[in-house]
Amino acid sequence: SKREGFATVPDVTWSDIGALKAVRKQLQAAIVEPIQNPQRYRDFGITAPAGVLLWGPPGCGKTLLAKAAAAESKANFISVNGPELLNKYVGESERAVRQVFSRARSSIPCVIFFDEMDALAPHRSNEVSEATSRVVNTLLSELDGLNDRNGIYVIAATNFPDMIDSAMLRPGRLEIPLYVPLPSPEARVSILRTVLSKMPIDPNLASFARADKCKNFSGADLTRLVRNAAQQALDRRSAAVEEEDFVMAAKEIPPSVGDMTRYEK
Ligand code: ATP
Repeated sequence: SKREGFATVPDVTWSDIGALKAVRKQLQAAIVEPIQNPQRYRDFGITAPAGVLLWGPPGCGKTLLAKAAAAESKANFISVNGPELLNKYVGESERAVRQVFSRARSSIPCVIFFDEMDALAPHRSNEVSEATSRVVNTLLSELDGLNDRNGIYVIAATNFPDMIDSAMLRPGRLEIPLYVPLPSPEARVSILRTVLSKMPIDPNLASFARADKCKNFSGADLTRLVRNAAQQALDRRSAAVEEEDFVMAAKEIPPSVGDMTRYEK
């Protein structure tokens, strides 16, 4: 989006997210509560938990969760895409990283979201360029600078957690790993119901998502399914979207997470 890198309060709430109840609860405890009640932590002489790493297959709600955590905290949200930052600021990526944290400091309370963190913070090995290593070091020192975190929280997301430099995952840094799974059949129904609830489509049709035709569908695939089903209904000049439209639409959608073993630890 054109607001990439700038602070805004997102308009996503927990109620826009289907399923993922356990992850929502953990984000509530790790991000929302500390932002809303910083005094409670100070009273007990402890710091709020540090950063969170959302990991799992693509299209399953990581970005949505991060936005909702910020919005539910009434905090500002700065979104940074790893590969984009590296490409856009070739030779100046460290400065761009520092600028992100400095923007956050002038927008507290603030959640910084790093998408595709594996690109921004890969293992510092021989294969990685000197410039990339410097970016990782800069990120580490900025994260450590948040130790007295006055209202700045970091959420990072990745499909490949094993590719991230292990120093990033130590206590005080991205210390809370939260797995965001491909939805189960029941979770698919809950996601479809959530999507349909915002549209003039019968929410009872959500049970279609339990069917084998939706096997391995991600949240993103289910969103596409709804759009395609509506298009089917339009094409046949029906007054309403019906189950047969979902049947037709599902045939045209190959699950985007093909080989799930790529995303297992
Ligand atoms: P990536 O790893 O590709 O960045 P992601 O996990 O961040 O993916 P999102 O961008 O959050 O995925 O999800 C993509 C879209 O799929 C969302 O904008 C939303 O429309 C839909 N979606 C995914 N998961 C859910 C969910 N649990 N409830 C409702 N909608 C969902």
